[in-house]
Amino acid sequence: MGRGAGQHGGTRASAVTVIELGIPKLRGSGRDDPSRPGDQRLIDQYGRVATDLRISLTDRCNLRCSYCMPAEGLDWIPSPELLGDEEVVRLIAVAVRELGVRELRFTGGEPLLRRGLEVIVAASARLRPRPRISLTTNGIGLARRARRLARAGLDRVNVSLDTLRRDCFEAITRRDRLADVIAGLMAAREAGLAPVNINSVLLRHLNDDEAVPLLRFALKHGFEQRFIEQMPLDAQHQWDRAVMVSAQDILGQLRSEFVLTPDPDERGEVPAERWLVDGGPARVGIIASVTRPFCGACDRTRLTADGQVRSCLFATSETDLRALLREGAGDQEIAERWRLAMWAKAAGHGINDPGFLQPARPMSAIGG
Ligand code: SAM
Repeated sequence: MGRGAGQHGGTRASAVTVIELGIPKLRGSGRDDPSRPGDQRLIDQYGRVATDLRISLTDRCNLRCSYCMPAEGLDWIPSPELLGDEEVVRLIAVAVRELGVRELRFTGGEPLLRRGLEVIVAASARLRPRPRISLTTNGIGLARRARRLARAGLDRVNVSLDTLRRDCFEAITRRDRLADVIAGLMAAREAGLAPVNINSVLLRHLNDDEAVPLLRFALKHGFEQRFIEQMPLDAQHQWDRAVMVSAQDILGQLRSEFVLTPDPDERGEVPAERWLVDGGPARVGIIASVTRPFCGACDRTRLTADGQVRSCLFATSETDLRALLREGAGDQEIAERWRLAMWAKAAGHGINDPGFLQPARPMSAIGG
């Protein structure tokens, strides 16, 4: 699958000298790029500050959504390359303590396939300042683990569900697991993982008529429904803008049944454009990454399951923190490398540029 295109390899930044000499860490900021101000946070050249860390815990998945990966799966990342639980926690601690990260979202692949998930969540919840912790999951197995995860410190959950029809679910995911997802959603609500969001991708000729039923289902059960435009991140490189169901299409469908008014509480950094449904308080969100990019408000940084920092879903280069970690680098050195990675973040994802190139890693190996 061509993982790690453009990785920066494992060379250690000279910032290690800063720690060895005991020079205050501010001096290290930007030392490999003199234009970077001495700011401890994950700032970039366009004035954005990343405070939201998406952590992929595995590239494996127990579904095979046709718009994400092929039926036979992918070449999974070899185990020795995956970060262990302690390594993941160490990098999260660096992000929270040194870099000002305030939100953690665990994703994948399917993060519930990670045996140590509860341990990682619990260790994250012990950090100070205590980050907000969420999980993006397909919901399979959540029914069994929702309570344990809540006890470990998970605050909220996003469950991906594209259809309420069993045959359609099987057609999209190549697995007959709709009932497990619904059970997971209900268990998450019972466990108090609020708000429980449902994330749905609509696909032409498959579930493009389900915007209204999905929203009705969410309203009935107290979930928050969000629709996500399909992005060019599939392993098969079959994404086609011409058939993509756009935010405008989705809004049109919803407005045929509901009165939508802009949510006055909309926060700038939130990618979903949210609307109050029939006057509220229920809301619906649409994440229009393709047709209404929100890169200017992006506050995310990403860590892959094999320890690579990505400044954007669509980045074509990565920064290797795993090698640094395994070479025995200190927290300050890791933090410095992370700062430089984010300083180089591009202004936008470029999906709409004529020269756009899809990243080598598919969504499942980046962490959606
Ligand atoms: N397995 C977990 C899940 O299903 O939520 C986490 C990983 S999955 C990659 C995260 C989200 O990305 C899911 O909601 C999925 O529908 C979405 N997704 C996958 N491929 C996508 C694409 N090409 N465009 C937009 N969303 C995509």
